[in-house]
Amino acid sequence: RRVSAPQPRGNVQQIPAYVPGRPPSPREDLVVYKLSSNENPYPPLPGVVAAAHAAVEEMNRYPDMGSAALYAELAARLDVPVGDLAAATGSVALIYQLLAAYCEPGDEVVHAWRSFEAYPIAITTAAARGVRVPLTAEARHDLDAMAAAITDRTRVVLLCTPNNPTGPALTQGEVDAFLAKVPARVLVVLDEAYLEFVRLDPSRGQALDAIGTYRRHDNVVVFRTFSKAYGLAGFRVGYAVAHAEVAAALRAVSLPFGVSAVAQAAAIASLEAQPELLERVDGIVAERERLVAGLAEVGWHVPDAQGNFVWFDLGEKAAAFAAAADAAGVVVRPFAGEGCRVTVGEPEANARLLEVAAAFSRD
Ligand code: PMP
Repeated sequence: RRVSAPQPRGNVQQIPAYVPGRPPSPREDLVVYKLSSNENPYPPLPGVVAAAHAAVEEMNRYPDMGSAALYAELAARLDVPVGDLAAATGSVALIYQLLAAYCEPGDEVVHAWRSFEAYPIAITTAAARGVRVPLTAEARHDLDAMAAAITDRTRVVLLCTPNNPTGPALTQGEVDAFLAKVPARVLVVLDEAYLEFVRLDPSRGQALDAIGTYRRHDNVVVFRTFSKAYGLAGFRVGYAVAHAEVAAALRAVSLPFGVSAVAQAAAIASLEAQPELLERVDGIVAERERLVAGLAEVGWHVPDAQGNFVWFDLGEKAAAFAAAADAAGVVVRPFAGEGCRVTVGEPEANARLLEVAAAFSRD
């Protein structure tokens, strides 16, 4: 009946699909685990659930569009001005908003590859041009090559630390040296979605102080999220810390009322429960270290894992490994022809994954 619909802009057809982590199919014989979306395996805290429920009672009302209570809480904790904050529906929305605010069609956005799969999606959506700089052999950002890739058309550089899906985090020294080479007109994003899982030594000058770095550089933008360490992936809330003009631009292009009242309430309650939530993070990090050590014992070395996930460099065997994990009731995230990303999950899930890895033939 329908002959032809109006056509979207040309670049819309080129937007790569976001492939979400597959949920496990239930099985009769064993409990199945989802290690495919870098989620927090712990259930929400009762206090956070109660705060969310209270907000549900007012669902006939729009949320506070200015997220005032959340901004006040974040500003106090981070010791930054409220005007330097921008909340959004997950930090993934911040990527879209930054590009919408700063990129004309054809402008360039430099990022590492392999990195977070939403980057090329957001870049294509903005009709910008992605410039992908391959990771080093250790699966780290090649910051020299990224600095060299900057041209007159470059508006934004996206740095993912720790890098999803490979794991290594940038050090303060690396970021300082990089920023010294980047013109002040180029925005540099520090995407710290997995910040809380990083265990680099601050006393040896390794751990990145992103907030301190934004204070010294007007072109640095820090992205953070409540989805990972804080366990609120389902509610969609993240925030940026940036120079007041950049934060204002991010807020200006946001969807009105995007961050729901439930998300705002849960985020505030999570900040109040920070000590307990960070203890859980310690537990996840301990499991990560156990997994990495167990893998080393069976001769399997992974890149420096600083997030809540581990990267298996498998090349063409990625699909076979994912299938073997599946058979053991563990759903991982394969990247065809490259490798598998495995989220650190429940101890039982991690133990099963170790067994799969020990038995898997990589030849
Ligand atoms: N940045 C990175 C590097 C991520 O891995 C993710 C989630 N997979 C995000 C941002 C987005 O998280 P959210 O939108 O849930 O805040």
